[in-house]
Amino acid sequence: MADSPAEEARPWGLVGFHFTLSHGIGPDRHLRASCRCCGRRVVFDPSPWMAQQLGGLALQSFEARLRCACGVRCASLEIWSGPAPVTGPDWSIYAFR
Ligand SMILES: [Zn+2]
Repeated sequence: MADSPAEEARPWGLVGFHFTLSHGIGPDRHLRASCRCCGRRVVFDPSPWMAQQLGGLALQSFEARLRCACGVRCASLEIWSGPAPVTGPDWSIYAFR
């Protein structure tokens, strides 16, 4: 087995029943959006929603707002441990409202 990167982020919250958007935000965690149809997963920036004071809403309630580049709306949000990797903007899964 090759050494796995020590700093690799791991999912810990996934899509929970009791998580709110603000649960996924912090220096030691970040959000990723995952598409159940095509398997795409990208780091997701929720700051537009936070700016609208939506941090207290359940993570699941945002799924209807996500659209994937594959053309469907079946993406979900996951909470991952570790700071968000610096990958640059990736808009292949995006919020449309
Ligand atoms: Zn997709």
